[in-house]
Amino acid sequence: MTNQIRIHVLHTGLVKVDKALPFHGLYHNPLAFTGMFRSEKNQVTLPVSSYLIEHPKGLVLIDTGWNKQVRTSNWKELGPQVQINTGYLPAGWSVDERLSALGYQPEDLDLVLLSHLHCDHVSGLKHVAKAKKILVSQPEWQTANHLPLVYLPHEWRGVNVQTYQYTNNGIGPTGESYDVFGDGSLLQVHTAGHATGMSATLIRGNNGKYVLLAADVGYATQSWEKMMTPGICTSRKAAITSLGWVREQAHDSNCVEALANHDTQTDPHVISLPY
Ligand SMILES: [Zn+2]
Repeated sequence: MTNQIRIHVLHTGLVKVDKALPFHGLYHNPLAFTGMFRSEKNQVTLPVSSYLIEHPKGLVLIDTGWNKQVRTSNWKELGPQVQINTGYLPAGWSVDERLSALGYQPEDLDLVLLSHLHCDHVSGLKHVAKAKKILVSQPEWQTANHLPLVYLPHEWRGVNVQTYQYTNNGIGPTGESYDVFGDGSLLQVHTAGHATGMSATLIRGNNGKYVLLAADVGYATQSWEKMMTPGICTSRKAAITSLGWVREQAHDSNCVEALANHDTQTDPHVISLPY
């Protein structure tokens, strides 16, 4: 572990959504996101990913998947948002169960980074609340606490979530990112559009090779191959700008893997980079 970075791609839930939500423009229905009058055949079920990064400078978790509450009641966890998405969490899939299978406890985590605060990314936060530090970007935090219909603040209530500021360092679609360890090996890149303060994660080895965890900039690889933004966006313009940046990164010969969070083609696996 000392001279390499290991990225564990984990599935920490499944989410059933309307077909129009992952791929804007592919299915036309103005009521799609509400879930109203939409039958089962218009729904798709996708994985919800989290990532555990064993980095020489610390153990880092990206996103948290679903809370175990969804096993007994989606309504108790999501309220009216069950109209938009339904969560599923098979036995052994919750984030703390995934950590345990790898030999870790929540308190072993040096850092939890939240790409954005939509329910399928932050619902499991309370299972890892004992992590040493929990961070989200300042613009995402600001937005999430003022848009109660889109976000569910009860999911982070009572948890010590702190914020970071993006700095203008020329990296990413807006030129803004947050250098987690200050050595360029782990960057939270500001990728607005789907959510105002969302970050993708760029992990760079000392040989110039990198892995891009694209969060919800696109729901699947085909999102950037076909330039399809997510159905839900706070800014379509920013979403297209972010998707163009991800596409270029994904096609670079130094890119080992570029992963969308909800891609049915992605199975859990481990990626290593030299440090
Ligand atoms: Zn998502």
